[in-house]
Parts: sequence; C-alpha cells; structure tokens
Amino acid sequence: MVGSYVVVWQGQTKSPSANIVSSHTLELTMDDYVTHRGSYKVGSDTTDLEVKKFYISDSKNNSDLAKGANDKIKDEIVKYINDNKQQIMANVLMEELSYATNRHNSYASSAGIKYTFNFPATTKEELFEYVDDIGIIAFVQGISIGNKYLNTKSYGVSKLELTTRYYFSIPSENSKYNMNLYHKDTKCLEYLVSQTNDITPSYVLTKQQAASASIDLKSQRVSGFYPCPICKP
Ligand SMILES: [Zn+2]
Repeated sequence: MVGSYVVVWQGQTKSPSANIVSSHTLELTMDDYVTHRGSYKVGSDTTDLEVKKFYISDSKNNSDLAKGANDKIKDEIVKYINDNKQQIMANVLMEELSYATNRHNSYASSAGIKYTFNFPATTKEELFEYVDDIGIIAFVQGISIGNKYLNTKSYGVSKLELTTRYYFSIPSENSKYNMNLYHKDTKCLEYLVSQTNDITPSYVLTKQQAASASIDLKSQRVSGFYPCPICKP
C-alpha cells in the first residue's frame, strides 16, 4: 500500500523567503514499518532522498518524514499517519480497484464488448476489515442469471490465520505487575494502566519476536518482555 504527501515549509534557508517543498511516498505495511521515498526542493534545486525503511514512530530514523521542516511538524505527521493509517490504506485500495475496473471496462469496449462492470458497493467497515488482516479479494462478473448478469465480490480470510499483534508495555505506578510485558489485546486491563507511549516498535507480529524484542523507549533501549498474566498471549 502506498500513500503520498507533500510538506511545504518556509524559511531556514539561505534565502529566508524560499519555500522548502518536500514530497514523500510511504509504502505502508500491516505493522508500523514503512519504506520512505521522497525528494526535497529548495527554490529550483531538487534532491532525491535516499530510500529508507524504518518504524514510523522511531524518532532516531524517521527524520525524513518531514525533511527540511522541524520536529514539531514531524511529530504531527507521525501522529496523522498513525491515526489515519487504516483510512489511508482503504483509500488506496479503493483507488487501485477503481483504476483496475476502469481499465477493464475500456479494454472490453476497445474489443467491441458493450457492457459496464460496476464496482460492487463496499462499506467503510468492510474496507477497514480488508486492510486489517491478510486476505484475498476476488471479483466475479458477467455470470448470467436469468436475463441479468451477476457482478459480485468476495473477500476471504478463512484460509488464512488472523493476524495477532503483540503489544509492549512498561510498568507504570498503576501496573499490577512490575515487569515489561507483551499483550495480545490493547483492551487488556494491565495494558491500559501500564506505560505504552513512546515505545518503538509498539507491537510485533509473532510471540517469538515479542519474547526476544528490544524496544526503544524514548532514548533508552529496553529488552526482556514477558507474556502478560492477564490477557495471556
Ligand atoms: Zn495483557
């Protein structure tokens, strides 16, 4: 999944009135890991940024997210991406599917076939489900039923394991357990009272990764996480 954005930033260059315009493309994945591509333009000079892979919230490596601007802008971008990731991915999915549908229709009409394949209606909830888990989407079109044609879509997760995420927490003064834990559920009572901000990555996708993880907590490196006795991951 690929999402793009542009940051326009003024000042802090040799000519203070020149805008710094940086363009960014992010390849999003199901966890926080992204591939960033971009370019950086001051006046008429454009520089391509090196392609980098990092966790969105990894403050040591995510500076390119707002190249040329300051940390405040960067933090806003990180927050926006985290808050809207599902919607961004759903939009990209819809755009790509619409593009494929249109291409299909124009190919059919150039071959002299007269019909329009409409993209079956999809609700926001359905789309969010699509991007939350690994699945397969399939389209069936043109099956004749009586004097009508059936156009439908199907989405399946049944053959694939639903992805469990393992979330990290650091004990806070309200924690029942004075241990670094990983949880399978962010609604877990122990997770809710523990410290869960500023942890990079905030979750991983396997128990093995969780048990052997080293995370960044602000500028500290923290290792050694135990399965939560409450949600029992
Ligand atoms: Zn838990």
